[in-house]
Amino acid sequence: MILCVSSLPSAGETRGRNLTTHPLTTIATALGDAAQRDVPLARYSGVGIGGPAELLVIARNRDTLVRAVGLAHEAGIRWRVFGGLTNILLPDGGLRGVVILNHARHVEYDTAQHGMPPHCVVAESGAIIAKVAQETTRRGWGGLTWAVGLPGTVGGAVVNNAGAFGGEIAKTLIAAELLTPEGTVQKVGPDWFAFQYRYSKLKAVRMAEIVVSATFQLKPRDPVVLAAKASEYTERRQRAQPPGRTLGSTFKNPPGDYTGRLIEAVGLKGVRHGGCVISEHHANFFINDGNGTAADYQALIDLAQAEVERQFGIRLEPEIEIVEPSAISYQAES
Ligand SMILES: Cc1cc2nc3c(=O)[nH]c(=O)nc-3n(C[C@H](O)[C@H](O)[C@H](O)COP(=O)(O)OP(=O)(O)OC[C@H]3O[C@@H](n4cnc5c(N)ncnc54)[C@H](O)[C@@H]3O)c2cc1C
Repeated sequence: MILCVSSLPSAGETRGRNLTTHPLTTIATALGDAAQRDVPLARYSGVGIGGPAELLVIARNRDTLVRAVGLAHEAGIRWRVFGGLTNILLPDGGLRGVVILNHARHVEYDTAQHGMPPHCVVAESGAIIAKVAQETTRRGWGGLTWAVGLPGTVGGAVVNNAGAFGGEIAKTLIAAELLTPEGTVQKVGPDWFAFQYRYSKLKAVRMAEIVVSATFQLKPRDPVVLAAKASEYTERRQRAQPPGRTLGSTFKNPPGDYTGRLIEAVGLKGVRHGGCVISEHHANFFINDGNGTAADYQALIDLAQAEVERQFGIRLEPEIEIVEPSAISYQAES
């Protein structure tokens, strides 16, 4: 049974009153330095947008991640785990409950000592995917080089089945550890995720399972060839993607066409709303170049969707995830 966080008194409301300890205070106390009240999420999001988290937990290791989820679950408090916040539009009003940012970043490359086949990598889900890709490329292990410039964490990449340049997570992931809110960790194979193009079961259906670690099986390749590919992919990203604070591609490409072309064709390149602007460089990228808000970004989404639908009859579907202000609770209701 999940309590509605909004019915609980805020820290301000309880100050000076002799009430039983607020569950968020209990969780914050148990997690010590890892937890902070009322922290603006804009500080951590790739696009620099997002109001305060009622309780923000930075989980710098696996134990803190597991404990934070367990404590929130036990207290019946709404919670959610994010990675690098590179692909998500957070509401200006912030999120109530417990927001856990996953910074558990240990990566094991010498897995043969644990009886695994050669060229396996086991990465905690908060590891930066680009760093794992860079290190495996340096070692001459092929399979993740496409991700050398991919923003975000291993966990976010698994959930989204991220991919680029013909590669994708589904092609090398051989196992993952999943945490349930009750604290059980189970090992699953790739089939569990039902991967499709930029899709996994965890993305489609809001589930309570958290990816704790991911195991990738890579293949020995010539390090010089891999390094050349890495440089090529980096250059192609630099050419195609505008610099600045963005969420990457705002919309999916519709079948047989490109969203950037469509938004440009309806004349919206360079159009601004408040602190957000549709990039002149690539119209599927929206940039926060000032004090942009979620409302500004959303206004551009609505405008692009309406104009492309009016002029081309195509309804653009967001690729980014838009978090509704009321929707902090992603825990399976029971
Ligand atoms: C400039 C730019 C370029 C990009 N290029 C590409 C590209 O080429 N290809 C591509 O596929 N994507 C691309 N993206 C999108 C994005 O980087 C990826 O989708 C990335 O994998 C998201 O990871 P994250 O850690 O930031 O996830 P977040 O944005 O933090 O979260 C995404 C979702 O995953 C969930 N989640 C995160 N971690 C976990 C976990 N451990 N367990 C369970 N759920 C979790 C979150 O709750 C949320 O629903 C780009 C983004 C930017 C800004």
